[in-house]
Amino acid sequence: MRIPVIAGNWKLNKTVAEALAFANELKTRLAGVTGVVPVVCPPFLAVQPVAQVLRGSAIGVGAQDCFWETSGAFTGEVSPEMIKESGATYVIIGHSERRQFFRETNATVNKKVKKALAAGLTPIVCVGETLAEREAEVTDQVVNDHITNGLVGVPAADMARTIVAYEPVWAIGTGKTATPQQAQAVHAFIRARLAALWNNAVADQVILQYGGSVNPGNVKELMAQPDIDGALVGGAALKADSFEQLVKFK
Ligand code: PEP
Repeated sequence: MRIPVIAGNWKLNKTVAEALAFANELKTRLAGVTGVVPVVCPPFLAVQPVAQVLRGSAIGVGAQDCFWETSGAFTGEVSPEMIKESGATYVIIGHSERRQFFRETNATVNKKVKKALAAGLTPIVCVGETLAEREAEVTDQVVNDHITNGLVGVPAADMARTIVAYEPVWAIGTGKTATPQQAQAVHAFIRARLAALWNNAVADQVILQYGGSVNPGNVKELMAQPDIDGALVGGAALKADSFEQLVKFK
């Protein structure tokens, strides 16, 4: 059975002090939540202090990126092992903003995913088409390319514990959400591809999140789709009230 994972991607928002205050508030608001896994992904500097605040709570912590080496001359980078040591257990990889602004490719995503898994982190791997690609009716090809090349060589046991987030780029931060039917169609396609590339058991276990302007008003209908197992949320995850409502969508 797939337990929904509702993850907040804070992006470049919240100072360490703001992050700590927010984490404390979420800890209170989400105390006792069951049947859903809430996760927060603060900027790097806040990962460790937030993980300390949330230790022992039901709320998981993740980073927003990682590098594919453990250590060395890679100025500015942070390794999955460092993230794990800081108390986080998740890491977002291949977010469209990183693909767009920081030259992330399927090849770099693949190296990061493998290294994150080896370090014991749960990767949240983002896939999704741009508006131009949707209009050109190549959504399936783009998503298939992200999955096939971004996840190539990941062993079945590791794939089963990897989260895939379908995030149509045109829906991120735009207020335009894919309809539940549009999202479900791509999620079903992704699950079918996972079955073909790995096997049915893996495809059945993988948590498939939807991301793209999810908010308290649309979360319930999206989560009601059979292949949508959670959400990766930007804007609506930045306020305690709306994140609480997202987590308590049932
Ligand atoms: C995201 O950044 O992953 C995202 C989905 O953002 P938003 O919810 O603001 O569209």
